[in-house]
Amino acid sequence: MSSDVQHIALLGATGSIGRSSLEVLKNLPDRFRVTYLTTHKNIDLLQQQIEEFHPRGVVVLDSWNASVIRKLVDNSVEVLAGEEGLLEIVRRDDVDIVISSLVGFAGLRPTVEAIRHGKDIALANKETLVVAGELIMSLVREHGVRLTPIDSEHSAILQCLRGEDLSNVAKLILTASGGPFLSTPKDRFASLTVEDALNHPNWKMGNKITIDSATLMNKGLEVIEAHWLFGLPAERIEVVIHPQSIIHSMVEFVDGSIKAQLGLPDMKIPIQYALTYPARSPMNGTRVDFPKLQTMTFFEPDRERFRCLQLAYDALETGGSAPAVLNAANEVAVHAFLEKKISFQQIPELIERALGKHTVRSRPELEDIIEVNHETRRYVESLVESTSVKNNTSR
Ligand code: MG
Repeated sequence: MSSDVQHIALLGATGSIGRSSLEVLKNLPDRFRVTYLTTHKNIDLLQQQIEEFHPRGVVVLDSWNASVIRKLVDNSVEVLAGEEGLLEIVRRDDVDIVISSLVGFAGLRPTVEAIRHGKDIALANKETLVVAGELIMSLVREHGVRLTPIDSEHSAILQCLRGEDLSNVAKLILTASGGPFLSTPKDRFASLTVEDALNHPNWKMGNKITIDSATLMNKGLEVIEAHWLFGLPAERIEVVIHPQSIIHSMVEFVDGSIKAQLGLPDMKIPIQYALTYPARSPMNGTRVDFPKLQTMTFFEPDRERFRCLQLAYDALETGGSAPAVLNAANEVAVHAFLEKKISFQQIPELIERALGKHTVRSRPELEDIIEVNHETRRYVESLVESTSVKNNTSR
């Protein structure tokens, strides 16, 4: 038996999930102690977090900012830099659980390293399972670690599956808020701005996932994530639009019964469940008030207006390295949209071109996935450059 207190390395501590994770951990001091915090470059917030949580060490990905904070903090706090620093801390004996709330492909290598060193994973970084689901799940089995999802939909499904036999599951039903453009007609998509897209109706999140929610790529990535976590094929994973975001997802069983998990949209709930699973802990907060809520509505997603969702299903169907291409192309396209180099509707166009050009590799190893990621990024970046040159000259 290990000691009662579990030691946590929190990757991505200054992001939206990272900050919510610290609020959860603050309320469970008898169960968890934070030993490492990491940030890309937000050292102001990291410094406050160091003062409050007293980690043994921190990692700052950006080396200049790492050298700055080294001078600001007490000598008792070890400061490491770069991806090497991340890979170093997840190996250490004073880490039992790694919370991965890094954004995008950058989450893959630290998660693989952590699993290889026997750490349990609480996973908010869905891209890791999208690009390397087969590899990750086989490593999880090989090393006997526990991987619990923080994503609210997958947490909901995990909760619905408690006490159930997977063979009795007919299908998974992922709910989607539909994002800010749920009722925007297709002919307006060309003129949608970054500011429009960042204005999510229900969830306050980081920029990357907010744009992914506006294109519905977030739901597409979640379909792939659900496939790997729960082992169901694409045709038994459905998406339904539910703008109120009260039902976080559902499981339909072979007898026609459906279980749903409900709650107000607050990421602290799935974060805490991922850490305490299968137990629960009390949490204060506002509760669902049904008479006040009155109605919950549901729609079929429009895969024509939201091409990204269909592209994700197609990539899952193709399998092998295709989801890694989908993800890399999406990361570059979202970044280019945020930089105002491409339009909103060019996001799916670029992803489709990248998927069309790629020769699929089956059962990719880590090195293959890293290579495919680099190749795709280079290709889509070149497309972005030629597109933005065209956009500028046509003005
Ligand atoms: Mg989600």
